[in-house]
Amino acid sequence: MESPLAPAWLSHPQDTAALDPKIFSTGVDRKAGEVTVQGLGVSKLVEQFGSPLWVMDENDFRFRARQYVEAFNTAFAPLCGGVDVFYASKALLTVQVAQWVKEEGLFMDTASGGELAVALRAGTDPAKIGLHGNNKSDAELQTAITKGIGRIVVDSLSELRRVELLAEQLQARANVMLRLTPGVDASTHEHIATAHEDQKFGLSMSSAPGQEASVAYQAVHFAAAAQHIDLVGLHSHIGSQIFDSQGFETAATRMLEFIATIDAEGIPVAELDIGGGYGIAYTEADDPVGPEVIATNLAQHIASETTRLGVECPRISIEPGRSIAGPAGMTVYTVGTTKTVWVEHNGQHYPRRYVAVDGGMSDNPRPVLYDADYTAVLANRVSDAEPVFSRVVGKHCESGDIVVNTVYLPEDTEHGDLVVVPATGAYGHAMSSNYNLLTRPAIVAVKDGVAREIIRRETYEDLFAREVDL
Ligand SMILES: *Cc1c(COP(=O)(O)O)cnc(C)c1O
Repeated sequence: MESPLAPAWLSHPQDTAALDPKIFSTGVDRKAGEVTVQGLGVSKLVEQFGSPLWVMDENDFRFRARQYVEAFNTAFAPLCGGVDVFYASKALLTVQVAQWVKEEGLFMDTASGGELAVALRAGTDPAKIGLHGNNKSDAELQTAITKGIGRIVVDSLSELRRVELLAEQLQARANVMLRLTPGVDASTHEHIATAHEDQKFGLSMSSAPGQEASVAYQAVHFAAAAQHIDLVGLHSHIGSQIFDSQGFETAATRMLEFIATIDAEGIPVAELDIGGGYGIAYTEADDPVGPEVIATNLAQHIASETTRLGVECPRISIEPGRSIAGPAGMTVYTVGTTKTVWVEHNGQHYPRRYVAVDGGMSDNPRPVLYDADYTAVLANRVSDAEPVFSRVVGKHCESGDIVVNTVYLPEDTEHGDLVVVPATGAYGHAMSSNYNLLTRPAIVAVKDGVAREIIRRETYEDLFAREVDL
C-alpha cells in the first residue's frame, strides 16, 4: 500500500525486483532472482569477501571516465582544442583506482598530501596532477613544487605569497592556477555549493567596499609578476551534484569576461577550468542529462562568449568525480533486525518498517551530512510479498544513522537477506570512518566478470595498529 509518509517523488513500485538502469551500474542485472555484477551474484561475493561489501564495477567506472574524455573532446575540439578531464579523486581514491584513471587518459585532481601521495604512488605523471585545498600545508606545497605538478590551485592571496616564497627557497618554479569565485549559486545542498561569496573557498571576483580591485584581480597581477610562479590558468568550481549546464555557463561567462579584462592588460590566460561536479541519479527523482549534453551546451556557450568578448578560447578542463565513481559502485549489506513503528501523520498512525543492516554512517555518512537520499533493493532473491514503506538504518549508536531514508521493500525482507544500495561508489569509502569501531568493508572490483579485492576488509588488529605501547 502507498504510505502517506512517503515523499512525493517516491513511487510505489510495481515490481520490487526492478533495477533502475539510471541508478545502477551498467554491469548490474538479476539472474535467477539474484542481483549480479557482470554475472557474479552478490551472495557469492559476500561469501567470499564478507559483508558489508563495496562492489565497484570497474568496467563501468572506466566507461564513464572515457565518456567524459570523448564527449568533451568531441564538443570542444573544433573551437578550443582539446579538453583535459581531471578525475576529482576525493570521490574515491586507491592506488588501483588511480591506475584506472591514468590508463583511461584522465588527469588527476587531488586535495591533500595524502591524495597526492596515492596519485604519485600509482605512477601518475606529475604534470597531469592538480592540487586543491583552501589550507594547504607548507609540506604539501613543497611536495607539489618539487614534484613539479601541473597545477597548484591556489585559493587565497596569503597562500599565493607563500607559494612564491616556498618556490624561491626551493629554487624551483611553481605552476599556479588561481581558484576564483564567480558568484554562481549552483542549485544543490548548501554545504556543497561552493561559488557564492560567504564560504571558505576561492578568491573573490567582487570588490570589497571602498576597494577598487577584487582579490581575484590582485592575485592575477601578483602571480603574473612573481619570479617563481608560472600562472597556468584560472579555475572556477560552482558546487557538486549539479544537473543542468546553466550554472556552468554563467560561471564561464564571468570567467571569460575576467579573462578579457586581464588579457587586455597583457596577462594571457592559457587554461580555464570550468569545475563543478555533475549530478548522478541516487533515486528515481534524479535525472542526470549525461556528459554529451553538458559538453555540447557548454561548448556552444563558450564559443559564442569568446567571439563576443574577442578573446581566444583557453584550453578547457573539467573535474568530474562523483559522476565517474558514483554509479559504478554499490554497497551490499546483510539484514540484521527489522521492526515496525507507527508514525503519526495528520492525526492518523501509519507503519514504517525499520530494516537494520550491518553497516551505516561509518561506510556512508552522506545521509547524515547532507540528508542525502538513496534507494535499496532486496538483492539475494525476488519476493512477491507486498512492498512496505521502509527505512534502512545502520548499526551505530545514533538515531540519525540512516542508510536509505525512504524506500519500499518487500514485506518479507528478513534477517539474513542481502540488500543492495546503489550509487555508493563516490564518497562512501572516501568518507568512511571507524565510528563505534566498526571495521571498514572491503572494496571488490569486478572487471570482465572477475572479482578481486582492491582494498581488503579491516580487521580488529587494524584497530589496534595505531595504539602506542600495547
Ligand atoms: C569535489 C570537487 C570536484 C568533484 O565533485 P563531484 O561532485 O565529486 O563530481 C571537482 N572539483 C573540485 C575542486 C572539487 O572540490
